[in-house]
Amino acid sequence: MENLYLISFGEIALKGENRPYFERILIQRIKQALLPYDDSVQLEKTHGRIYCYTKASREQVLNTLKNVFGIVYISPAKSCENDLEQIKNTALEIMRNQNYKGKTFKVETRRPNKGFPFKSPEVSRQVGAHILRNLEGLKVDVHNPEIQLDVEIRERSFVYCEKVPGPGGLPVGCNGKAMLLLSGGIDSPVAGYMLMKRGIELEAIYFHSFPFTSDRAKDKVIELCRVLAKYSGKVRLHVVNFTEALKEMRKQTPEEFLTITMRRMMMRIAQKTAASVGAKALITGESLGQVASQTLEAIVATNEVATIPIFRPLIGFDKIEIMELAKKIGTYDISIRPYADCCTVFVPRHPKTRPNLSGVHDAESLLDVDKLTEMSLKDIEIIDVKPQV
Ligand code: ATP
Ligand code: MG
Repeated sequence: MENLYLISFGEIALKGENRPYFERILIQRIKQALLPYDDSVQLEKTHGRIYCYTKASREQVLNTLKNVFGIVYISPAKSCENDLEQIKNTALEIMRNQNYKGKTFKVETRRPNKGFPFKSPEVSRQVGAHILRNLEGLKVDVHNPEIQLDVEIRERSFVYCEKVPGPGGLPVGCNGKAMLLLSGGIDSPVAGYMLMKRGIELEAIYFHSFPFTSDRAKDKVIELCRVLAKYSGKVRLHVVNFTEALKEMRKQTPEEFLTITMRRMMMRIAQKTAASVGAKALITGESLGQVASQTLEAIVATNEVATIPIFRPLIGFDKIEIMELAKKIGTYDISIRPYADCCTVFVPRHPKTRPNLSGVHDAESLLDVDKLTEMSLKDIEIIDVKPQV
């Protein structure tokens, strides 16, 4: 049997002309998210909501849709013919499945279909009385009820009383694509999540330096993509073999400038990769002052090589706040696995925490930047990561 869910999508309703576009993307995302459980989900956009008919179980639907950005509420609902007796019984059935004992409730009716012979207050009264007659331990409270039962009389009648919160935000893809610099750490996956929530489709790039960093570190990044893909359906990961470039940098660069030089090189490569896939911005997990490479001067120096925007959604967050978010989105446990990335392997003993640009330029002049960039761009493995079902 098919179950019905009414899906509300607050914010995107506000977006004027873009609205049909947002709605179309949201519908695609819902369909894609439910695909593992039901390949023939019916989604109908009507009355400012999406009506979802599916044979997936309630648990599958709620667990899946809580990760689909753009959704504000999900209401498990039932529908019936426009017949007062049927409406009463449908409402009773819904209430019976609630944890209603000792609670207060009210019935709220809307009747856009004026062909229905009873007015809204009359319907509410009759439905409420029917429920009170049949269920014990319920009281009416029209001002501040613990349970509100909604009845909507349209071409059919719809009854529901739950509003399960969705994640909000905007549907992934409606704001274009960006490239996330994804290390195995705690911060960058959270940064990616935050921009997905604003409708950005992610591709990820990881700089791998085997054998300085083990393949376990790469596996960890793939696992992180798998978690992020839960929110978007898929994440394409570009694994750059950074070893040769890194060796060259280590050989030629004064040690205190190695970190910043390495980061500038990452930006150049990420930016070129972004351009090749139509990603219009970069995303990093930087947070101001968190480590030596994230002082304002260091960020200025890294930023200098970029010609597209770099989004740093965590810039004003404390580590503790970032960790909490990482736990919430499910990346924390993977991020704390102990396999180091190249930034940690090659931390100089005395890094320049406040590098001035001319110093950085001098250090970099010893390198053939274009050659190192091209070399790294030629050695990229692409992995399409899907969510775990
Ligand atoms: P994270 O927790 O995300 O690893 P971090 O606190 O270790 O961040 P840095 O090492 O300074 O900070 O890195 C800052 C940002 O640079 C990271 O958030 C990430 O976006 C990017 N980055 C660092 N190392 C890599 C890498 N090996 N591959 C891809 N991106 C990286
Ligand atoms: Mg890191």
